[in-house]
Amino acid sequence: MATTKKPIRSKKAAVAKTNSIKLKFDTGWTYAPAPESKSAASINKQYDLFINGEWQKPESRKYFDTINPATEEKLSEVAEANAADVNKAVAAARTAYDKVWKKMPATERAKYIFRIARIIQEKARELAIIESLDGGKPIRESRDFDVPTAANHFFYYAGWADKLEYAFPNRKAQPLGVAGQIIPWNFPLLMAAWKIAPALATGNTVVLKPAETTPLTALKLAEIIQEADLPPGVVNILTGAGATGAALVNHPDINKIAFTGSTDVGKIIQRAVSGTNKRVTLELGGKAANIIFEDAPLDQAVEGVINGIFFNQGHVCCAGSRLYVQESVAKEVIRKLKDRMSSLLVGDPLDKNTDIGAINSKQQLDTILKYISIGKKEGAEMYESNCRLPNKGFFCRPTLFTNVAQSNRIAQEEIFGPVLSILTFRTDDEVIEKANNTPYGLSAGVWTDKGSKIFNLTKRLRAGVIWANTFNKFDPGSPFGGYKESGYGREGGLHGLLPYIELTS
Ligand code: ADP
Repeated sequence: MATTKKPIRSKKAAVAKTNSIKLKFDTGWTYAPAPESKSAASINKQYDLFINGEWQKPESRKYFDTINPATEEKLSEVAEANAADVNKAVAAARTAYDKVWKKMPATERAKYIFRIARIIQEKARELAIIESLDGGKPIRESRDFDVPTAANHFFYYAGWADKLEYAFPNRKAQPLGVAGQIIPWNFPLLMAAWKIAPALATGNTVVLKPAETTPLTALKLAEIIQEADLPPGVVNILTGAGATGAALVNHPDINKIAFTGSTDVGKIIQRAVSGTNKRVTLELGGKAANIIFEDAPLDQAVEGVINGIFFNQGHVCCAGSRLYVQESVAKEVIRKLKDRMSSLLVGDPLDKNTDIGAINSKQQLDTILKYISIGKKEGAEMYESNCRLPNKGFFCRPTLFTNVAQSNRIAQEEIFGPVLSILTFRTDDEVIEKANNTPYGLSAGVWTDKGSKIFNLTKRLRAGVIWANTFNKFDPGSPFGGYKESGYGREGGLHGLLPYIELTS
């Protein structure tokens, strides 16, 4: 479904026809589409549950559709796991833990993880296509970021498996047991890698549940795990929606829950595990502040802001959704942002030219549109690029708001879409106060020419990850995680091992 709003017309703005192939800009260039071929990806008509190393029919006997959000066409149907299926998967993971995985020498465990990484690399093209088909993100993102970073994550943690005594000198790192892992739809394969790789490296076994709108790359990962000959039951993958996730969280034989998703569900999980022995890590929402000082390289900063909120449709928990610009350069930055927005291509996720793909689901598009209308009602001034949207599928124009007040909902709440709120500031103290004034604390960005300012600011910003003169950069070696309502626990790096081990002397 395309948004029903009429595009704002501006003389300067580009004319883009995303559905009808030709894109012509005021630069005079015409873009020819460069679509990646769907035929390089094989998707089954139906997927069962991956339990104990094999595909098992769901006890529920139910399946649900997964669709392509760019076309609203059905891609496949996947099993809906119920509590009985969760029981089977947890039992398989427990047996694999007791009988095989915890006893296996760490050097052997490492070889399996390494093998998974290699097969992901071999199948990179197919995985990227499926990620873009199922989730709506541009192929450029899935091809150049999601899939290689997922492979790197497995490589990285394969390296730690037999070096835990060096990671934690004079202590013994003991695995916890069976980990229940629940992931969202914004980085389906990468989130699976973030969860599974450190769990396996530390000797735990896994039951993973992907999000209901993006199950396909996790199911492809199950095929890869089979191909890597991982002992049965070490990784189990169950598809389903919130009820499946809740059954996993509440299962008595789970030792650890790792969750990435909304703050609301994070709170439910927190309540569900209180009073149990289950260990928990939560990676929840965010409302990142991107701060531009007057001495920053402005063109570079504008590109960083565009990358931080618009690429990937703003479907990133660390998206730079609040922009704080020093007053003296605000006009110039806003003009540059609008110019750059007019050249962004919204459309077919499989087209290599596309900057902004499809919103992941109708429900998410409705949420984003609701926030855009809240922003207007709150008195902020809206600007959206005037690109034409495809007739089918869930798409949203890149949108920015100026004249935003700190207390406005669009400046406080997570929108999870291509919507940027711009606020201004005069002094360092003022911007720190404003940037920290949110329930979240996941990430932030600082743009300035002065190294000392970067260090002063990063000490005072309450955010788990802070980028300086760049944004949204990831490496398996750096820990990621938040403060306050953005959750707790870290993923990535040496710190990412800690949530999966008990340290004894
Ligand atoms: P989002 O708002 O990003 O979709 P959610 O928090 O709703 O995030 O979903 C993230 C993951 O949590 C998904 O895999 C979803 O199925 C799962 N989930 C939703 N509700 C629950 C719940 N009550 N208990 C456990 N998992 C849940």
